[in-house]
Amino acid sequence: MCQVDEEYNGLECNQKIPLPTLNRKCMKCKEETASLIIRVSDAFCRSCFKEYFIHKFRAMLGKNRVIFPQEKVLVAVSGGAASCAMLSQVQEGLSQDTPKKLRFVPGIIYIDEGGACGQSSEERQRSVAQLKSIFTETGFPYFIVPLELVFSLPTSVLVPLSSDPDRSNPIYKLAVDQYIKQNLVEETTAGAMSQLSIQDSLYSPEHKLALERLFASLKTLTAKEDMLQTLRQHLILHTARVNGYSKVMMGESCSRLAVKLLSKITLGRGAALASDTGFSDPRYGDVVITRPMRDYSSKEIALYSRMFNVPSVFISGLDTKTHDKASIQRLTESFVTNLQADFPSTVSTIYRTSEKLHTVIPAQSQTSESTSKCLLCLCAIDTEVDKASAFHATLVSEQLSQIRPQEMSHAAPAMSADQCCGEGQGCETGGCCSSKHRSLNHQDLKALLCYSCRLTLKDMETIDTLPPYITTEAEKRQKRSHMKLEISEFLLEDGDDGD
Ligand SMILES: [Zn+2]
Ligand SMILES: [Zn+2]
Repeated sequence: MCQVDEEYNGLECNQKIPLPTLNRKCMKCKEETASLIIRVSDAFCRSCFKEYFIHKFRAMLGKNRVIFPQEKVLVAVSGGAASCAMLSQVQEGLSQDTPKKLRFVPGIIYIDEGGACGQSSEERQRSVAQLKSIFTETGFPYFIVPLELVFSLPTSVLVPLSSDPDRSNPIYKLAVDQYIKQNLVEETTAGAMSQLSIQDSLYSPEHKLALERLFASLKTLTAKEDMLQTLRQHLILHTARVNGYSKVMMGESCSRLAVKLLSKITLGRGAALASDTGFSDPRYGDVVITRPMRDYSSKEIALYSRMFNVPSVFISGLDTKTHDKASIQRLTESFVTNLQADFPSTVSTIYRTSEKLHTVIPAQSQTSESTSKCLLCLCAIDTEVDKASAFHATLVSEQLSQIRPQEMSHAAPAMSADQCCGEGQGCETGGCCSSKHRSLNHQDLKALLCYSCRLTLKDMETIDTLPPYITTEAEKRQKRSHMKLEISEFLLEDGDDGD
């Protein structure tokens, strides 16, 4: 392991790590005595560390240039140390009176996932109250959204919108210049506006039960975690859209992203890695997800939070108090953290890899058509691959093991074998699929998903527990593709996007 590490990152692990000594000087100002050591060679005094930490945040935003002056940015806070540190950086950046001041208009969102993690309503209320006091302190508008609200989401959440194509770098500079000119006037209006929206949504008892049923129908913790993440993203996206936020900030640290990168690979999301772990994630089109904390290690965040009293709230999640091997995500996490303990460059090596990833968008999916995107994660569908691929071979053997002889000989209109629930009796007459079950089944839904989301669906006992916005949109897309199939004979070869 050391050899591999050495090749990539040089030294660190093979060298004897010098013990931190009390009289080491700060590497930056070279005057003060260092009060903390981040990496072997980086010893900082208190004030230099603060400066370094704050600078890093602003540098990340400056380097990527995706957040415009006056743009409404939704800061997603989970209560954990990283997202709370991010919130404190936003506060810090906006309050500064320098030309480097951050100039966007922030709002905060917290998704209360307690319903999916088996928390009692008292526990949930307690965490929400703690968070509220942190949020109120900032003076930013905030949204507290219980996960149960996914049962009242509209289907539009699943349709990626096209983004404003003009927002490229040259315009960014123009926007900044313009902003600096008319600085004062707008600042006061923005301040007044931000007082308005404070939202603490309530959920109905039916939705609480529906959410419990949904998570009970997922058989593995891996699938539960994946579903939770999908639903959380949808809620954040919806809240951002409804309230006019065009950017969302997620507080994922580089340690978290390293874990995420590896676990996403094992979950079959290789094709979507770039948007899952990159600085900006444009998959939704009109709302862009950003990850400004991606340069901080969890150690740096922990040190900063302790030193400068950044408040955070511990909220137990799905994987709290679970075994190391309880889920793929959990296993990857313990793998990376254990490795990092002995080989300190593990995380950064993985993380640097993530920086180099880019998505190659296949020509046909560049159209804004929603059918080429996965219904759940909204990434490009990666299942339309060559017949010679491993994925295709898996599909064929899966199909062969499911289809019974009578169905195979049945020369029904195309797709009916796929549509069938596969339970046999009455299938030919349509008595099984159309009356006993609802119009959408596992197989139909699967066709609309990317490879990884299919795996999650596979671990699901029944799709009837899914929130209505997902099933309704699936039915809509299914109908459309049926229709397309029916009229396909009459279409010209190139007319794919002619609808
Ligand atoms: Zn110093
Ligand atoms: Zn997907």
